[in-house]
Amino acid sequence: MAELFYDDDADLSIIQQKKVAVIGYGSQGHAHALNLRDSGTQVTVGLREGSASREKAANEGLAVATVPDAVRDADVVVILAPDQVQRHVYAEDIAPNLKEGAALVFGHGFNIRYGYIKPEAGHDVLMVAPKGPGHIVRREFADGRGVPVIVAVEQDASGSAWDLALSYAKGIGGLRAGGIKTTFTEETETDLFGEQAVLCGGASQLVQYGFETLTEAGYQPEVAYFEVLHELKLIVDLMVEGGIAKQRWSVSDTAEYGDYVSGPRVIDPSVKENMKAVLADIQNGAFAERFIADQDAGAPEFKELRAKGEQHPIETTGRELRKMFSWIKPADSDYVEGSA
Ligand code: NAD
Ligand code: MG
Ligand code: MG
Ligand code: MG
Ligand code: MG
Repeated sequence: MAELFYDDDADLSIIQQKKVAVIGYGSQGHAHALNLRDSGTQVTVGLREGSASREKAANEGLAVATVPDAVRDADVVVILAPDQVQRHVYAEDIAPNLKEGAALVFGHGFNIRYGYIKPEAGHDVLMVAPKGPGHIVRREFADGRGVPVIVAVEQDASGSAWDLALSYAKGIGGLRAGGIKTTFTEETETDLFGEQAVLCGGASQLVQYGFETLTEAGYQPEVAYFEVLHELKLIVDLMVEGGIAKQRWSVSDTAEYGDYVSGPRVIDPSVKENMKAVLADIQNGAFAERFIADQDAGAPEFKELRAKGEQHPIETTGRELRKMFSWIKPADSDYVEGSA
């Protein structure tokens, strides 16, 4: 059984007594910075000169500094820049300015797991990874709840790295929901697998194929959109509440029988073999290498795939349909349709 932590297992005063530098103010960065600040911690956000995030952080009343200035003063440095730039920020702006004994916190294990960042021995190296998007991490905290976190210690230089990790997890609200003990390796490999095989890659492809199959057979795109994309959230909500069993309980017997007889026809055992191949590429570093090589070259493959995805007919249909529905309110003001 996994080891679980809740608010009572952590001492908030530890993180309250630290000066924390949060590097990056994107999805996770803004949530960590604001939640820690609201938990009584002194937070400075470290950003490049001219970064568009500077104004957003300052508008929230947070102290903003360059990365070197934020790091120089900090007992805890939280690295929440994009994974593909973290090693550059670390080498150029963080490592040369890092205080003796300062702790490093990550929100995902990528750079440590694949060796792109190798912190010196004197620093605690921790991970507090919320299992949800940053905007939900902030929204839940503000509503008095929290998003579950997974917590790991890669390097315990101080002998009290776990106490700090749990205090930090409590500060961002994660232990209101619960924390699970893990390792950098387990978090990195399972996170990449989950997003590639099921949550992002698998689900996106499944929805696109479903939409294509219906529209190619002559059904209206608007109706197809509802059946294969919109309703997915309603089904997933039931799964989260009570497992696949609750979803099957709630749908009609017709839908439940169709689930049993057609699900395995669509997602056949070859899909599981493909998943194993995806996992192997994550474990042996091939995915990480391909991602970083493309990013270092200016991300040509990434940009091409993103543009291609945005041109899929389901996006055009969805954009038009969503305009007509007052009941879908955009939750996150940062996101502009079609600008991803
Ligand atoms: P993001 O792309 O939303 O934001 C990145 C931030 O870093 C921006 O504020 C950007 O201005 C800043 N930045 C970029 N280059 C910089 C530099 N050279 N120096 C300083 N700041 C710089 O990133 P994100 O999605 O929040 O991801 C951050 C980390 O959190 C990653 O390790 C990611 O894997 C992890 N994570 C993200 C989510 C999520 O919800 N997006 C969930 C779990 C874990
Ligand atoms: Mg994830
Ligand atoms: Mg991830
Ligand atoms: Mg239906
Ligand atoms: Mg039923």
